[in-house]
Amino acid sequence: MGVAVKRFVTCPGSGKKCLPDVETAIRKALRYSAQRGTPLRYYRCPDCGLFHLTKRPLSRAHVDTYQRSA
Ligand SMILES: [Zn+2]
Repeated sequence: MGVAVKRFVTCPGSGKKCLPDVETAIRKALRYSAQRGTPLRYYRCPDCGLFHLTKRPLSRAHVDTYQRSA
């Protein structure tokens, strides 16, 4: 008991609320997206190794790649 399982409530790196697994992250992302009318997505955090939600799109590079098709 004790140190084997760390449960971060808030991220030590970003200060965001941590989601413990991808299923929870997906559920929350869908729920908040519906509530706010803004699409949210989840990502894995390099600081805590857990998941957070963000409003940001994946990246500009990704968008550029996506839009290149004519
Ligand atoms: Zn984090």
